[in-house]
Amino acid sequence: PRILIPIEVASGETRVAATPETVKKLRSIGFVVSIEKGAGSSAGFLDESYLNVGAGIFSEEDGDSLKEIDVVLCVNCPEVEFLKKLKPSALVIGLLAPYGNNSLATCLESAGLSALSLELLPRISRAQSADVLSSQANIAGYKSVLLGASALDRYFPMLMTAAGTVQPAKVVVLGAGVAGLQAIATAKRLGAVVYVSDIRQEVKEQVESLGARFIEPPEIAEERTEAGGYARQVSEAFLEAQKKQLLEQLSEADVAICTAQVPGKKAPRLIDEEMLDGMRPGSVVVDLAVSQGGNCAGTKPGEIIFRNGVKLIGASDLPCTVPNHASALYARNLLSLITPLIKQGELILNTDDELIDGSLISKDGVIRHAQLMNLGG
Ligand code: NAD
Repeated sequence: PRILIPIEVASGETRVAATPETVKKLRSIGFVVSIEKGAGSSAGFLDESYLNVGAGIFSEEDGDSLKEIDVVLCVNCPEVEFLKKLKPSALVIGLLAPYGNNSLATCLESAGLSALSLELLPRISRAQSADVLSSQANIAGYKSVLLGASALDRYFPMLMTAAGTVQPAKVVVLGAGVAGLQAIATAKRLGAVVYVSDIRQEVKEQVESLGARFIEPPEIAEERTEAGGYARQVSEAFLEAQKKQLLEQLSEADVAICTAQVPGKKAPRLIDEEMLDGMRPGSVVVDLAVSQGGNCAGTKPGEIIFRNGVKLIGASDLPCTVPNHASALYARNLLSLITPLIKQGELILNTDDELIDGSLISKDGVIRHAQLMNLGG
């Protein structure tokens, strides 16, 4: 089968879905690989490096046709114009933003395409090596702390100098999922004192093993974890009680890193105007949930807003600021997903497999997750 790695066209996107390392491996398991001219350049992978491992360069201008392609590996969903030119039953794999995506569903249907949406990959142990949400969230967590540290008007570590002692910065991390745990580890390495809030009691041990302090969630009896280990949407009463706790923590914080999310839902609002009023001028909030509505009042995607001396950083797209490693890990995730699908030189999409069943949103144009994509099925 023939794989194409297209150039990513979404604004601000710097990643690429295959690297020379993974192209080499894709070829060794039986794929013919083409890469669109310049697709890896903003991630530091030049066309020559792909040519050196046996990839072809694809260019529609030079007469190459999308009709020859069996599989498209991408980061973001390609544009409709591109998808329409693929042949029926071609397979698209990427972060396709499926939630409520009626227009994508319509396009997949009319073009007869198969599509595997990586957001929906069940997060079971077998899928860990293919889990792009985790590999990218890890990067976001790491980078969020660096942003916070460089925007802060203080040191992170405790220092004993000839001019006296400097106290360590206090960092509050909201949400201890993949991004939050990496943020904790990064802030600890820089010498900060770290406090952590999460509604899932079971993360306490992980937080403490990283040397941070866990803020016990308010004692309101309700289920806070779904089957599968994800957070559930909590009640207003819980959020109210949690706010009271955080009000106090944030009034002493230098940096707040917000990573709290609930899959497929708007992010919970954890920092409101009153809490921001209580924060010290010069302190910083980095909101990783900004594109899902934000954990913090007033943050905007990609913007830094000054609010009475507090810097509010709307940290969307952080993996794009570390494009080389973000691509390397993303590409390895895809390789690990696709390798078991090749049987005797053919790509087989077996919907009895939990991973495929969960993430295949369309098979040959038949939409399989109609409800999710707002088609009311
Ligand atoms: P996420 O991005 O959906 O959420 C981030 C964190 O926000 C979660 O820890 C969640 O509990 C927390 N949160 C939600 N509402 C909150 C609130 N009101 N206040 C404070 N915190 C709140 O999560 P994620 O990082 O994608 O993953 C979460 C969990 O999924 C992991 O910790 C793990 O248990 C599981 N997981 C499993 C695998 C696997 O086995 N393959 C891979 C990745 C993640």
